[in-house]
Amino acid sequence: EIAISIRNLTKEYVLKSETVRALRGVSFDVPNGDYVAIMGPSGSGKSTLLNLLGCLDKPTSGSFLLGDDDIARMNDDQLADIRSQRIGFIFQSYNLIQQLSVVENIQVPLYYQGRLGAEERQRAIELAQRVGLGDRLDHRPTQLSGGQQQRVAIARSLINDPSFVLADEATGNLDSVTTGEILTIFDQLSAEGRTIIMVTHEDEVAERAKRIIRLKDGSLHLDELISQDRREA
Ligand code: ADP
Ligand code: ADP
Repeated sequence: EIAISIRNLTKEYVLKSETVRALRGVSFDVPNGDYVAIMGPSGSGKSTLLNLLGCLDKPTSGSFLLGDDDIARMNDDQLADIRSQRIGFIFQSYNLIQQLSVVENIQVPLYYQGRLGAEERQRAIELAQRVGLGDRLDHRPTQLSGGQQQRVAIARSLINDPSFVLADEATGNLDSVTTGEILTIFDQLSAEGRTIIMVTHEDEVAERAKRIIRLKDGSLHLDELISQDRREA
């Protein structure tokens, strides 16, 4: 079953004196449960593609199906619903709210939906435990290491039980040991059948995925499967 299908996706940014063609007709399918790393040099279109896949922006042309939904035809409200209900986002800079505790940060996506009952708090606690922060529930982000902050962000991304998780340089600020811990959590999310797409510029990180898509100048340059041997190397 296909989670994501994009065809001839283009994105142009219109500036005052010129048009930047950030994506020039990208096509690929992502089956449910796939684990994809997107790589490519700076300016190759990775962030633009991730923004489109995350329904944060709309393509200039081309089609994008998320499950059975035709994303390119949706209005902003519909896109906001899809983002909050079906997609988990993880960023390089964690994007935690400094005034809130670990459990409260994990509940932030529910706040926008007006859902903050005891049941939701319990679910946030379970997610904190799941990412190894069961003894840090009332800590603030400043009291946590970078790896711990990213684990809070991962728990937050899971609060609506998304089938699809998008990570943008999630390990970019972390040392190699902590990066390994975060990637182990990603392995678990993948084993649960969630579809994961991550942008990274680190080969060691990308090779933990099942597949690497390389962009070059706004086009798909290479699409390679990672063998099990290489993933475990
Ligand atoms: P990457 O993430 O691989 O570095 P980007 O998707 O950020 O690539 O950028 C692709 C191209 O689009 C670059 O030429 C970049 O300068 C341009 N670009 C990205 N975002 C914008 C924007 N909001 N406005 C104008 N140009 C942009
Ligand atoms: P991790 O490997 O999970 O990133 P570390 O080994 O870096 O954790 O951190 C060990 C402990 O030190 C953590 O439990 C955390 O509470 C504390 N700690 C680490 N970095 C900071 C920091 N910048 N500010 C406050 N506490 C920190």
